[in-house]
Amino acid sequence: MELFAVPDLPEIREGDDLAAMIDDRVDLRPDDVVCVASTVVSKAEGRTADLADFPAGPRAKELARNLEEISGEEKDPRFAQAVLENSTDVVMDAPFILTEAPFGHVSVNAGIDRSNVPDHDLLLLPERPSESAERIHENLDASPPVLVTDTSGRSFRHGQRAVTLGWAGMPASRDWRGETDRDGHELQVTVQSVVDELAGAANLVSGEGDGGTPVIVVRDWEFGDHGGSDNLFRDLRGDFVRQALREWEYE
Ligand code: GDP
Ligand code: MN
Ligand code: MN
Ligand code: MN
Repeated sequence: MELFAVPDLPEIREGDDLAAMIDDRVDLRPDDVVCVASTVVSKAEGRTADLADFPAGPRAKELARNLEEISGEEKDPRFAQAVLENSTDVVMDAPFILTEAPFGHVSVNAGIDRSNVPDHDLLLLPERPSESAERIHENLDASPPVLVTDTSGRSFRHGQRAVTLGWAGMPASRDWRGETDRDGHELQVTVQSVVDELAGAANLVSGEGDGGTPVIVVRDWEFGDHGGSDNLFRDLRGDFVRQALREWEYE
């Protein structure tokens, strides 16, 4: 397996055709996996915004005031408003705002980025990342699988890593259930989130700063002869950690 960055991509602007820009720079194969940072998908889709677009309502003001008290830092209530308007659920409101995006991804501040965004204050996540991935997948000459990724924090562990927000052309997970381990025991629960593992590998190459390498090609990796599944985001009903958070209050 080999990973490499698509070279010489410019600053991405609204309306840019990412698939054409990638095809101009690399000869893709149908069995490559193309990992695209959500940042450039958002830029191409015009998901930039400014704080002035989000006049703060009472809930945003209260959230920001509370965060200010806790952190001793100034918090812009318009940012809290942007977070609320781009979320379907607030999972935690302090000491940071953890929200669920309409497409199911749970992240801090609705995944809104304030870095790598020239000329605007904010970059919102793509509205429907799997649809974005599907469009790029279909428009690339070789139609390889496409993942739209984002850097994300983790519960329980320090450090961030990339995860996949949307995917097309391959299943999200490899389902090992029903296969056997080396002792002949049948695996009961293992569903391997390969799209997140590929996102993590790609992020090793793309980095987090000014590298200018938002698109990474994974070559000679095989999904293999396994079942696949597309469940990536847990429903609240089966998410016991999130249920426990409902009872929890920051002190
Ligand atoms: P995120 O993880 O999707 O939020 O994206 P990051 O902000 O971490 O950026 C991932 C990679 O893409 C880094 O190497 C950035 O330098 C690069 N990047 C971000 N925006 C652009 C852009 O418009 N053009 C190019 N060429 N690279 C970009
Ligand atoms: Mn991001
Ligand atoms: Mn990143
Ligand atoms: Mn193991």
